[in-house]
Amino acid sequence: MTAKWVFRQLFDQPSGTYTYLLGDPDTRQAVLIDSVYEQHERDASLIRELQLQLLFCIETHCHADHVTGAWLMRHALGSKIAASEKSCIATLDLVLHDGDSIAFGRRSLKVLETPGHTSGCISLVLDDHSMVFTGDCLLIRGCGRTDFQQGSARTLFHSIQEKLFALADDCIVYPAHDYAGRTSSTIGEERRLNPRIGGEANETDFVGYLDNMRLPHPKQLDIAVPANLQAGRPTDDRIPKPPAWAPVITTYGGVLEISPQWVAAHAKDVHILDVRTRHETTEEGTRIRDAQLIPIDELRERLDQVPKDKPVMTICRSGKRSVLAFTILRAAGWNEVANISGGLLRWQAEGLPTEHAS
Ligand code: FE
Repeated sequence: MTAKWVFRQLFDQPSGTYTYLLGDPDTRQAVLIDSVYEQHERDASLIRELQLQLLFCIETHCHADHVTGAWLMRHALGSKIAASEKSCIATLDLVLHDGDSIAFGRRSLKVLETPGHTSGCISLVLDDHSMVFTGDCLLIRGCGRTDFQQGSARTLFHSIQEKLFALADDCIVYPAHDYAGRTSSTIGEERRLNPRIGGEANETDFVGYLDNMRLPHPKQLDIAVPANLQAGRPTDDRIPKPPAWAPVITTYGGVLEISPQWVAAHAKDVHILDVRTRHETTEEGTRIRDAQLIPIDELRERLDQVPKDKPVMTICRSGKRSVLAFTILRAAGWNEVANISGGLLRWQAEGLPTEHAS
């Protein structure tokens, strides 16, 4: 049985931001809600590894606490950028209005305009009403602040009461932020328990709370808002480049990987470290010319034999033990080290040269 859909909740620790990846398992079409600039590589790797086709980066609003990764994603994966026209974000590919539907494969999200935190805030309801992505409108036991960016506590009260609290009790709430490790809530729970707007709270209670919070000025405001008004496009249009020593990719697992083709073409400029057992490298025979052979169980004791003057490319049979070698070398101070993707199996499958050890 295939999964009903792809759903991932991703977290950016410094800004406390949740990014959501939603995909249709049959067509592989996907959308990404509220991406973070600094998490671009992580998110792009996950999308590639899950073999998804990213259609849209959707902004729930123009954020003040982090810069969006939408523009980088458009460059990397060809995805489009979608947000409310009231967000004032420039260069949108899809301008969203209340009631619009954003389709990805056979699934879709419905747009609810939920202003108050900013005038351009939207929430996104999944087609079966099982989930709502509330941005900074409704948070878990909280809500977005309303003291800048055309914020209005009165407007936010009506957005939450009339739009979000009109959803079913069991509709799961996924906010854009949480700062206390909470990942989700439900509409019923927040309607009952939200300390600002739940239970018997009326507009006067809510406005009286929000207008007297005296929150500190957001640290990122002066950087984030201008950048987000351009959907995260750097002012110099410069795209972050891979390191000069090799075109490595950071996997979702956090490993720097390099293609066997590139290593084979640059064999003189790199040091290949083969961490298979002696049995595999000598008795079975196949190895890469000039590769250094240090079995993984000896690597920690023989680190002084690994050169530091060239980037080190680790390899084993399938590219798994060599990830541990990568980790050991990184921890021991090697910065220019990468795992050869797919190991010797892929190396040979791609017809790259090997020799007999004996
Ligand atoms: Fe916000």
